[in-house]
Amino acid sequence: MDRIRINNLEVFANHGVFPEENSLGQKFIISAVLHVDTHKAGLTDDLTESVHYGEVCNLISKITRENTFKLIERLAEVIAEEVLLTYDRIREIEIEVKKPWAPIAQTLDYVSVTVNRKWHTAYIGLGSNLGDKEGYLKLACDRIAQNSKCKLIKASDFIVTEPVGGVEQDDFLNGVICVGTLYTPEELLDFTAGIEAEAKRERIVHWGPRTLDLDILFYDDIVMHTDRLIIPHKELHKRLFVLEPMTCIAPYFCHPVYGKTMSDMYEDLKKRDLI
Ligand code: ATP
Ligand code: CA
Ligand code: CA
Repeated sequence: MDRIRINNLEVFANHGVFPEENSLGQKFIISAVLHVDTHKAGLTDDLTESVHYGEVCNLISKITRENTFKLIERLAEVIAEEVLLTYDRIREIEIEVKKPWAPIAQTLDYVSVTVNRKWHTAYIGLGSNLGDKEGYLKLACDRIAQNSKCKLIKASDFIVTEPVGGVEQDDFLNGVICVGTLYTPEELLDFTAGIEAEAKRERIVHWGPRTLDLDILFYDDIVMHTDRLIIPHKELHKRLFVLEPMTCIAPYFCHPVYGKTMSDMYEDLKKRDLI
């Protein structure tokens, strides 16, 4: 990805832990690296194919002047998020906030905080086999589309599947969606758990009937294992009801652990299922 760099934008503002900093103000110096594909703008000489860096400077300056934060960590976070939310073309951003007059009774050039934030791509598996199944899957899609930190990029068809796992229960309606998100994996899990709660999801029997189940299948090509979260989802390679809709929206997406495309994994599992 190409980059547009804004170097050392000076803004007088009121951030700081001490009340004097909030009332008297001081100088902040902000730099940004915007990851933008500039190829088309380079070929056509057309500003609408790129990002107007003057406007981005004005936005950064406005956010810096119109807020009073204690921490430059917070200022950098807010600037990064606002710029990413305002400009679709900016996929990733680095923000450095320097504080040259930090009141710490030491001689130094400046202290600074640098953050890097970007749009991530997650695939989420949807399932329901209780009540208004289609209504619950649509509720999940709506809540994700309505959240400013998420974009619903693609949705598979919803398919009817038989339950797996041995519990006697109604058929499922399953699907998969592709989501652009500014959330970390943990934040995304908190958000999807909130949607499950809104659908009155209850956990009574393991792998039992549920109004709404939202599983994070992939998050970029991350491989992680914590107490709360395993990504890629640990069962997906065994599940036709996941691989079929994944193949429908992202046939060439490659599993970061198994190194196989969704379409190959689906075909392999179908063959094994027949044996
Ligand atoms: P399965 O995970 O086999 O599909 P399930 O969806 O019925 O089973 P839940 O009761 O919905 O299981 O989830 C149990 C826990 O799994 C959650 O509380 C969550 O912390 C954890 N978990 C681990 N990895 C993931 C993931 N990738 N997506 C969603 N939840 C996950
Ligand atoms: Ca599940
Ligand atoms: Ca789940």
